[in-house]
Amino acid sequence: MAVPISQMATVAAYVLKNRFQGNRRYPLVLMLEPLFRCSLACAGCGKVQYPPHVLKRQLTPEECFAAVEECGAPMVSIPGGEPLLHPQIVEIVNGLIARKKYIYLCTNALELKRRLPEFTPSKYLTFSVHLDGLREHHDFSVCREGTFDIAVEGIKEAVRRGFRVTPNSTFFDGVDPNQVRAFFDEMMAIGVEGVVLSPGYSYDKAPDQNRFLGRARVRRLFRAILSNRKKSWKFNMSPLFLEFLMGHRNYDCTPWGSPAYNIFGWQRPCYLLQDGYAESFKELMETTRWEDYGIGSGNPKCANCMVSCGYEPSAVLEGFGSFKGFLAMVKGNFSLYPDKSALDLLNEPAPNSAVPLVQIEQPEQACQETRA
Ligand code: SF4
Ligand code: SF4
Repeated sequence: MAVPISQMATVAAYVLKNRFQGNRRYPLVLMLEPLFRCSLACAGCGKVQYPPHVLKRQLTPEECFAAVEECGAPMVSIPGGEPLLHPQIVEIVNGLIARKKYIYLCTNALELKRRLPEFTPSKYLTFSVHLDGLREHHDFSVCREGTFDIAVEGIKEAVRRGFRVTPNSTFFDGVDPNQVRAFFDEMMAIGVEGVVLSPGYSYDKAPDQNRFLGRARVRRLFRAILSNRKKSWKFNMSPLFLEFLMGHRNYDCTPWGSPAYNIFGWQRPCYLLQDGYAESFKELMETTRWEDYGIGSGNPKCANCMVSCGYEPSAVLEGFGSFKGFLAMVKGNFSLYPDKSALDLLNEPAPNSAVPLVQIEQPEQACQETRA
């Protein structure tokens, strides 16, 4: 179990309070995108093509605080773009800590080591470092050599300084499950709090459309990766969401569980799709046709989606929403998921990871985080 007890207790109390008040829909994590600029241009990044005048814009700290207070979620994920490129990111982070929000600051870690002295370790602050597996796979995934080593250096320094750190990995087609398992070993040896995982979402704007996984292949891949676990592995996620990825559970999406706010406003319906924007959180919640989204809706944009921003809230709500769900969550935290047939999947020939990737030219100010 990697998520600290105090964070779990805060989320549990929040879920119970909303259930007691009879609220049908409420957010768990605000996806706060303060800017779209990035220092990388990954092939799976869905918003990399924003024009320069959009990439130049950013939210002010006051806009960030207003969105956080309007939303009320106990956790705030700060993707982007690369948040460390925001000139007032320290002020934003400190303001959210003062509001007692659990923050996941997502970063590609190119600047992490240099910027760490500006931050203060806190139980409310986690650096969520974009790391898509071991060196070769990660550098290939982000289309730049040397990024893995820089990120690992940043992670080690952050751990040394007493920060919470969770590598955040998105896996696409062509990934070798044995390599992912070796990656878990390496991360645990460094001393990270836990790994965060998600399958990639098939953005129609992403430059390389050949790498995305369908639902059946997601389940097969994650069953191979996550069955027969080592005791040392820790995941900073709901174990029920991991069971969902492995094909042991079915959920529909809870898009309002992770609402997204950025320079355009409140994004409908989720962090991944852009079916317009609402001017306020209230308007987002009250006027979005939620029934048009998720696997059960038949919406083709949701057909292959199993990403954490849509489905982890479903798992968290089950885990904290009933005694049965709570027991399943506790059991999942300690289970190693033995599965003989999943071992056979590990013995299959490694997929060809040399699928040609579209190499993106580095724009002057690159792209946007699309990761859940
Ligand atoms: S299924 Fe995926 S794309 Fe569709 S609403 Fe949910 S998170 Fe968004
Ligand atoms: S924002 Fe996009 S380009 Fe930048 S690190 Fe994240 S996925 Fe890669």
